[in-house]
Amino acid sequence: MADTTYDFDLFTIGAGSGGVRASRIAGGYGAKVGIAEEHRYGGTCVIRGCVPKKMLVNASMFAEELSHAHHKGWTLKDNSFDWATLRDFVNGDVDRLEGLYGQTLGGAGVESFSERATITGPHTVRLASGREVTAKYILVATGGEPVVPAFEGSEHSITSNEIFYLDEFPKRLMVMGGGYIALEFAGIFNALGADVTLVNRSDTILRTYEQEIVKRLPPVMEARGIDLQLGAQIEKVEKAEDGSLNVTLTNGTTKQVDQILVATGRRPRVEGLGLEHAGIELGAKGEIPVDKFSKTSCDSIYAVGDVTDRVQLTPVAIREGHALADSLFGGNERYVDHSCIATAVFSQPSIASVGMTEEEAREAHGEINIYKSDFRPMKNIFSDRAERGLYKMITDAATDKVVGLHMIGPESAEIIQAAAVAIKAGLTKADFDATTAIHPTMAEELVLLK
Ligand code: FAD
Repeated sequence: MADTTYDFDLFTIGAGSGGVRASRIAGGYGAKVGIAEEHRYGGTCVIRGCVPKKMLVNASMFAEELSHAHHKGWTLKDNSFDWATLRDFVNGDVDRLEGLYGQTLGGAGVESFSERATITGPHTVRLASGREVTAKYILVATGGEPVVPAFEGSEHSITSNEIFYLDEFPKRLMVMGGGYIALEFAGIFNALGADVTLVNRSDTILRTYEQEIVKRLPPVMEARGIDLQLGAQIEKVEKAEDGSLNVTLTNGTTKQVDQILVATGRRPRVEGLGLEHAGIELGAKGEIPVDKFSKTSCDSIYAVGDVTDRVQLTPVAIREGHALADSLFGGNERYVDHSCIATAVFSQPSIASVGMTEEEAREAHGEINIYKSDFRPMKNIFSDRAERGLYKMITDAATDKVVGLHMIGPESAEIIQAAAVAIKAGLTKADFDATTAIHPTMAEELVLLK
């Protein structure tokens, strides 16, 4: 298999979700593969994204459970929370996973370079150490990075890159943004006991999600103690002598906080990558444009994952990387279908979604039917909170096919994954109705929708 014209059959830049999968599978096919990683193996998801974030979500939901433990007959004494213990446990597991990623690459015969790499030509990559390697194919899987908007004193803020490593628990936290990362961290720190303020430029949060579902979240966040400052931005931040941050918002509100987390979006990580040496021009959002087989405008260079700004999710980057390795080295040319991808927001309560929103469905199908269930999850009865779940199913009226499903409520992400199989397979509302419920569950609402 190995082509001796080049040092490598495939050289991957970036050992995150997409890069590791492509390299491991290509190595398994017998290709000679090299991979460069400038930070840590595993990339954003494993090191400072999905994995540690979800561990914090789980830990913070325990705090919520504790708050109503008395209804379950428990008397708790002297319970207190220690951030350093949680932080170190989470990061310990991240270290473990990083080790596993390294082992997986080694096991597939992939040669790893723990350094930055840049492109110097269609078949050449320069490593930070100065060594230049040649490759038949180059894969760019460099992911994305947080964007911090310009405001006075923005240097005092942090991003999701830093939040997992804070020395001190921020008793007063301001979160800026209205996307899933902002909402998830607002929920985590609120549940862990911080005084949280969420600032978002517009009144709309989670813009691309079904808004009837999303609308349920702000009142719940407020009821749980989060100060929502919607339609406002940070105007300036001044650092006080004691280290606290005095924030002025554009709506005139002032607040003193310990940390400001900016989560206003991510951009493709391409700066200084040398794409111009291969004649690759960036797209409108700074992404690397690719065709459906993940090929760039240069025949020997491919790109997968967040850097291509298709769908910025780990399972998508993994699928793109896998399809690429199959296509280039496995004799199975294929591409990833980006339709009907289930997603979740691990807010508290969580939101999950698959397929079209009502607005999208109306545009695509004209006549649609909508079915809903608005219910109080049994789980919430212990909590004294009046929080309700809402499930919304959208069907194409002509065929009865389910084209969208959206949920807010406990365990939404866990529930929607199974339903996503049915929706991806093109099943109808009648198929859902023909399925017997499991009682008592929240998921049973899906087969009882009216
Ligand atoms: P990455 O995983 O970002 O990997 C890119 C790698 O390339 C990095 O390790 C980087 O150090 C390296 N690199 C960059 N440039 C160079 C260079 N020149 N030389 C060498 N190495 C380089 N997705 C989900 O599906 N579910 C979630 O719950 C979820 N939660 C998230 C939470 C947060 C806080 C964040 C930030 C993201 C989250 N994501 C989530 C998104 C997910 O992390 C990304 O979609 C995914 O990691 C993209 O994979 P990738 O391979 O494209 O890039």
